[in-house]
Amino acid sequence: MNPQIQALFDLQKRDRQLHVLERKLDLIPKRLVELDEDMKKLAKMLEGEQKKCEDTRAFQRTHERALAEEEEMLKNSRAKMGQVKNPRELSAIQREIESTRRMANTRTEEINKIKAAVEETETKLEGMRASFEDIRGKADAEAERLRKAQTKLEAKLAKLETNRKDLKGQVELDTIRTYERIRKRVGGMAFVAASEGRCTACKMHVPHQTFVALRKGEEIHSCESCGRLLFWKGLFPEDEATGEPKAKAAPEKRAAKASPSA
Ligand SMILES: [Zn+2]
Repeated sequence: MNPQIQALFDLQKRDRQLHVLERKLDLIPKRLVELDEDMKKLAKMLEGEQKKCEDTRAFQRTHERALAEEEEMLKNSRAKMGQVKNPRELSAIQREIESTRRMANTRTEEINKIKAAVEETETKLEGMRASFEDIRGKADAEAERLRKAQTKLEAKLAKLETNRKDLKGQVELDTIRTYERIRKRVGGMAFVAASEGRCTACKMHVPHQTFVALRKGEEIHSCESCGRLLFWKGLFPEDEATGEPKAKAAPEKRAAKASPSA
């Protein structure tokens, strides 16, 4: 066989591998950004809850200060009780004490409610912090795994690129140019098999003489219909990706027909 045919065949293989690798590599930075954004969102949520809890605690302190003042007032009023000069003054102080006491009682109830709310929020926060740490640990591990995969893929890619250059050097420049042009145009296979007198990509007939030449494995010809470069299928019998679409499995079709919903 003409070594250029083998080289072009191998080159196409490398190109397909490169394409797959590049797509995989493209996904990694995107995934890393997503992970980072997810963690930022979670951190912001946690921060918001913490702030709420702090605000509630500040509210509790304000009430506690007011309660202390009310208790001070009660103490003063009680002290004044010993110095009353007449029943009118006594009843005024009693009223004052009663009203302050009511205020203090209401406030104590309010403080207890706030305390319960703070406790509840703190429990919730504790849970949130624990799951945040858990998620962060997993995200860090995932990022680490992705970075390692990226390094590996990049090394593989570099190797393939070098190999690809070597192979390109083994094929005539004109042929390489045609190959690259068609690859761009069809967005895929540019070197395809000819089988039973037809191009397996476009299914059109290959002139008899061309097919005979292809079978000898000495020349590379273009398909007159689609322009793809051709090789005889028999040269690479083990190759599965020769441009032929995969035959559909008949049992699946039967199964689909048997199903009432289909
Ligand atoms: Zn064709």
